[in-house]
Amino acid sequence: MAIPSPVLFLGHGSPMNALADNADSRAWRDLAGRLPRPRAILAISAHWESHGLAVTASARPDTIHDFYGFPAALAEFQYPAPGMPELAARVAALLDPEPVAQDNDWGLDHGTWSLLCHLHPEADIPVVQFALDRNRSAADHYRLARRLRPLRDEGILVLASGNVVHDLRGMDWHRPDGEYDWARRFSDAVRQGLAAADHAALVDYPNLAPEAVRAVPTPEHYLPLLYAAALADPGEVPQFLNDRIEYGSIGMLGVAYGLAPA
Ligand code: ZN
Repeated sequence: MAIPSPVLFLGHGSPMNALADNADSRAWRDLAGRLPRPRAILAISAHWESHGLAVTASARPDTIHDFYGFPAALAEFQYPAPGMPELAARVAALLDPEPVAQDNDWGLDHGTWSLLCHLHPEADIPVVQFALDRNRSAADHYRLARRLRPLRDEGILVLASGNVVHDLRGMDWHRPDGEYDWARRFSDAVRQGLAAADHAALVDYPNLAPEAVRAVPTPEHYLPLLYAAALADPGEVPQFLNDRIEYGSIGMLGVAYGLAPA
């Protein structure tokens, strides 16, 4: 039987990481060398929340700049990967009878392209984004994600993109390498849950550790992690990737399943 495609959860952090040459971007470029070339990529980004389920269905998705106050080089950044309407339809088929909107308005947001520009700089692999439905609980997201498991046998790389610690208000802009103790504790609790395959504890993240309230003030940057965990096969061992905290309170932890050993 063919080896299942890898599944990734990556912390994306600042949109500036798209242009940066730093410890995280270098780690993503190293990771790129370990990934088999997928037929297409299904991206689950913290930056696309919807009411109801949706996937991008455009054959030519736009590069979306859903942020303000960054340099022109970032505001003008393009990641011109094609879309893949048949993958969008396949996702809908896997989740049937749940309705999945075939969306032609959203494109690729920086949760997706700030990582893919390092993983696949040529932008020649089709990318479809799956939205985070605001109306669902963490347990619902986990259950939905499990139904996407067949994609791993169909040459699809799943890239979930968020941040396990994401306290924008507490950020220390003067310390790109800064790390608050509470942020480290929560990130390590997540890492432990992944290592132990204790997905129930990860789904119940408000009770995972006392720091949860600060680390996950809103769910959208955490939920993509549950998609990656849900797509792991029983007994599949996670490989941890980046594990920095940036600006005190942004956790860059990454994890992969199904990746060949380094
Ligand atoms: Zn973000």
